[in-house]
Amino acid sequence: MSNRETLRQLLLQLDNKSYKAYKDIKGSYKFPDFTLIIDRVQGDPFASPSQLRVQLPQPVAGFPSNLYQTHSREIALRDYLTRQFDKVAQELSSRRGTGKSGLIAIVQVGQSVLDRTSAFITQEFVEVRFVVGLPARGRSILGRQAVEMLCEDIPEIVDKSLKYCFLEPKKIQQQVETVEDADWLRQQLPERGLVAFIPDGAILPRRSGVDERPLLADAVPFHSPETLRVEFTCPNRGLVTGMGIPAGVTLIVGGGYHGKSTLLRAIELGVYNHIPEDGRELVVTHPAAMKIRAEDGRSIASVDISPFINQLPQGRSTRQFSSTNASGSTSQAANIMEALEVEAKLLLVDEDTAATNFMIRDRRMQQLIAKDQEPITPFIDKVRQLYTDYGVSTILVMGGSGDYFDVADTVIAMDNFQPYDVTEKAKAIALANRTERTPEGGETFGQITPRIPLPESIDPSRGQRDVKLKVRDVDEVVFGTEEIDLSAVEQIVERGQLRAIAFAIVYAKEQYINGRNTLPEILNRVMADIESQGLDILSNLPEGDLVLFRRFELTAALNRLRTLKIS
Ligand code: ADP
Ligand code: MG
Repeated sequence: MSNRETLRQLLLQLDNKSYKAYKDIKGSYKFPDFTLIIDRVQGDPFASPSQLRVQLPQPVAGFPSNLYQTHSREIALRDYLTRQFDKVAQELSSRRGTGKSGLIAIVQVGQSVLDRTSAFITQEFVEVRFVVGLPARGRSILGRQAVEMLCEDIPEIVDKSLKYCFLEPKKIQQQVETVEDADWLRQQLPERGLVAFIPDGAILPRRSGVDERPLLADAVPFHSPETLRVEFTCPNRGLVTGMGIPAGVTLIVGGGYHGKSTLLRAIELGVYNHIPEDGRELVVTHPAAMKIRAEDGRSIASVDISPFINQLPQGRSTRQFSSTNASGSTSQAANIMEALEVEAKLLLVDEDTAATNFMIRDRRMQQLIAKDQEPITPFIDKVRQLYTDYGVSTILVMGGSGDYFDVADTVIAMDNFQPYDVTEKAKAIALANRTERTPEGGETFGQITPRIPLPESIDPSRGQRDVKLKVRDVDEVVFGTEEIDLSAVEQIVERGQLRAIAFAIVYAKEQYINGRNTLPEILNRVMADIESQGLDILSNLPEGDLVLFRRFELTAALNRLRTLKIS
């Protein structure tokens, strides 16, 4: 293997040559205390930056094994190393020429602690993957700057971010313990009959619509109502108290601007762990929770939406309903049925993003428009059956209709950002003021029909390339010649999840989508492969920016692929 000196000489020789000559540096180099691996070299200064890795032997890195022994701790520590590398690289990364010259960067992270391919740790080594914009002036190689970046900056970043002796042990301990507690809490939910837990003292509001960090000065800490308070003794933090939301149908009510949506958003993201000091680091939700909303304009491929929608004009079938431009109500029905198809156990709905005619149909409207003229059976008539027939709970933000009091098990009122248990009061009101509605839901919820996707309808190729994948912002995947719009899939929190989802669709197609397997079977297998072998099975090169997603986000992407066809 070559060493640092060879790399230095090589880069100096390349100085001033045409950018393409950089290709020669691909390979591995032995540095005094780590190995630098250059996996992919960019073709020009404006192309996606080059992909590199460093590997440090564990004796050099020096992490005590108790920091990564359990799965929770390992994910937490890898997340910490990613953030630390990011911090140091940002301090150092200065522009050194044209295009992306001078960039040293690791995958972008948010507030969640996720399994990412940016950092790994084992008993033997620490590995970190990142990208480098190899420096150029115009299209000529800047050899000296490249030497500074690769032979000086990278060793400095490695020192300051990947060696335990230079890090803050207390912070690392806090991170692994917090994540371990959160995972433990989430596991406790079923045996306590809960679907979500929000601890006392949690800070739920965010700094702004575009800043996911916690609101600082004016944030009102969460305080559970007595009647819903539960206690846990966490493995690290010990006693934690807070509000437990029971399985069943839960309504969150309250005046506008009193914190309803903020609470629901925290619950949505409680399927993930968060970094210490996020404010929501011990907010945990059933892992199979799916946010449901209206999404008019989306495409739908042969979904059985008949539990909610029947007898459409022109006699269109709703057992295999397809649309290239769904309405608010049909899109919301499809979102629910697709979630149920892949075994969601908790639905989260906010009136702010729901279709009104899907949610309610009151007595007066029932009288004016007879049932046989209204294709929609509103959610209010199905939400209980979902729980009794399939064990699927719902948490619903609904400030606008008291009709739901009849079907709710728990009613929580948000008042000045604080929750109150108003279940008894709501039930009393419901008894005293009957809605006189005629229930429209029938005896049972209805069928959930798993679909079989056709392989030829999923084509990632474009022009001469077999696979062309790209991610735009955090809400669009370019899949071959198709664009998949994921802006309404609210539990996708990082761009790297989209990258991984795009790779996973290709993987699913190559391995399991064969015209015989159902969607749930395909997802079970893909997720099981990732769980046992890691995200790296999705790609040929060791990618550094793949971030773990849930089965629900992967199906959401497949379901929004406009070419998708069902057998
Ligand atoms: P609602 O859905 O009831 O209309 P939101 O959840 O949208 O209300 O909250 C309204 C505003 O109040 C938002 O700007 C949000 O950030 C802020 N907010 C929510 N909860 C808190 C809290 N606990 N402390 C301070 N501000 C909060
Ligand atoms: Mg709201």
